Formats: sequence, structure tokens, C-alpha cells
Amino acid sequence: MMIVMKEGATPEQIDAVVKRVESVGAHAHFSEGELVTVIGAIGDREHVANLGLEGAPGVDHVVPILKPYKLSSKQFKKDERTVIEIEGRKIGGPHFMMIAGPCTVESREVLLEAAHVVKDAGAQLLRGGAYKPRTSPYSFQGLGEAGLRLLREAREETGLPIVTELMDVRDLEPVLEVADVIQLGARNMQNYTLLTEVGRAGRPVLLKRGLSATLDELLMAAEYILKEGNENVMLCERGIRTFESAYRYTLDLMAVPVLKELTHLPVVVDPSHAAGRRDLVMPLSLAAAAVGADGIIVEIHPEPETAICDGPQALRADGFADYLRRVEQAAALAGKELSTV
Ligand code: PEP
Ligand code: MN
Repeated sequence: MMIVMKEGATPEQIDAVVKRVESVGAHAHFSEGELVTVIGAIGDREHVANLGLEGAPGVDHVVPILKPYKLSSKQFKKDERTVIEIEGRKIGGPHFMMIAGPCTVESREVLLEAAHVVKDAGAQLLRGGAYKPRTSPYSFQGLGEAGLRLLREAREETGLPIVTELMDVRDLEPVLEVADVIQLGARNMQNYTLLTEVGRAGRPVLLKRGLSATLDELLMAAEYILKEGNENVMLCERGIRTFESAYRYTLDLMAVPVLKELTHLPVVVDPSHAAGRRDLVMPLSLAAAAVGADGIIVEIHPEPETAICDGPQALRADGFADYLRRVEQAAALAGKELSTV
């Protein structure tokens, strides 16, 4: 339930509404606009409805939010889109963001070389995993804290903000020391303890859609983060499992416009993990940008043949600047511009 206060509602009237919302065990979530205050009553819908807040002093009107997710729902922000700013770079609304880098942090040389390519081409954020969710326990699992230290070095050297994955709450502290955006991977989309802790940490989050998750499940996962007061959540479509076996996953591009209908949160597309093949990354990126994605996260590697992880899908460094220019043109078709610092 969303309670929209009248323009000029007094602090006492607002306080009275909050007290009544809390009296039935619901949580009152504030959203203060330029003119009006909106109070989201998060809790048992029936109990809140029974309060009869329509017509209470200072209340303009009450809007029921019918979806099971509330704070992430489009209704919660009316027509406003969430714009997230990371060290001056923006994503959401008219702002398009390119996030690029190697799958995993494997060495200082590779990371720094990739970071310079990413920066020189004009991308906004550097990605790279220090903790890797691998299908086989015998595969390379990431450099862990040593990888985080290299990411910090890349950040210092290039000034690029860092996106890196957190897999385990026990690693939250060291990850917070370097991550400008915490990535929650597809396999952890429904790790509710992790979602809650990252919500409390307050750092922007890139939440990837689970391999077989519906959009409702993705939005409910985002809700866990938002509910803790962290409003900076980007959703990421990275391919889902279907019966098709000609490629790694099926990139669900329909998810982009449909998510835009359901939520105010920015939507990012990851063509690399969906395709698993370099040759598909450019066409999928152009399509994603043209269909209205707010950003792309893509894997690049200076020498993909030697990459420890996901080499076959990594873009080559020498083609990256051209790739980015073309994606920028496709984003322009959807009315978006690459964010500048
Ligand atoms: C990744 O981004 O490196 C990754 C492992 O992605 P996903 O969780 O989407 O598989
Ligand atoms: Mn990868």
C-alpha cells in the first residue's frame, strides 16, 4: 500500500500515519519528493487496508500495490526511474552504462591491460571476479583476497570503479573495501541471507537473474535488498535455461521491456554468459541496447586463448572500442546516452 500525503501535509500528520501503519506491524518506508511525501506501508496488506487511511488528516490518496514485490514495483515510484550514480557515472533513465573486464582476476598484467582497454574505449566500470562460482569444484575458484588487492590496484591506476562478485557473507568486509558495485551471481539470486546482508551494506548491487528464475522471482530477490534500505539495485538478464542446446543459455531479451513495465530499477544485459561464444556477443549487445537495456556487462580479455575462465566468450581487446561505439549507436535508438563522468 502506498499512502500519498497531501502537498503541505504537516510533520504531525505524517507521523500519525506512520504510527498507525506501525500499529498493525507493518513497516513505513519513506519517499520524500519535492512536493509530496509518499509512505510505503510494507506488511500484511489486509491489516493496512483495514486502517482506513483514505481520508485521514493530511492523506491525499492511497494506492494499493498489487504485486508481491513492493519497493521494486513500478507503482512505488510512479513514472520515476531509479538512476544509480557510481563515482559520477550514471545508469538508469536516459543514462546507459558499459561495464567490461575479464571474467576473473587472474594476474596483475592481464587485469591492468584489460582495465586500460576498458578505460580508453570509454566504458564506465571495470568488472572482474575474485571469487568465482564454478560448476566444477576442481576448476579455478578465483584468487580471493589477492584478487581483490589487484582490483584495488586497477582502480587506483585507472580510476575505474569496480564491479566484483560476492558469494559468501564471510567475505563481505574485504569485498566492501574494493567494490563500488557488488555483483550477486545467478547462482546466488535466491540466497536470501546474502541478499539481506548486501542490502544492509548499502553498496550498489548488480543482481543477476537465476538460471531458471522467473521475473517475479528476480524482483522478489531485489525486494530483499531494497527492504534493508538499499535502493541502488540493478537487475541483470544473463540468459536462462531452455530446451535449446545450440548455445549456452537463451538470452531473454523480452525480459528487458517487460521488466521496464514492472519495475523502476535499471536493467543490465550480460550477453557474454548467455552466449558462451564471442561471435554472438556483438549482435546480442546491439539488440539489448536497442530494446532499451540501461547497460551491458561484457567480458573482454587481452588474450582470450590463454584466459583461465570463459575465454571463448571474451571479446578481444583490439575490437572493444569499435564494439562500444556500435553499442552506443544502438542505445541511442532507444533514447539513451553513454554516461560520462
Ligand atoms: C560472471 O559474471 O562472471 C558470472 C559468473 O556470471 P553468472 O552469475 O551470470 O553466471
Ligand atoms: Mn565469466
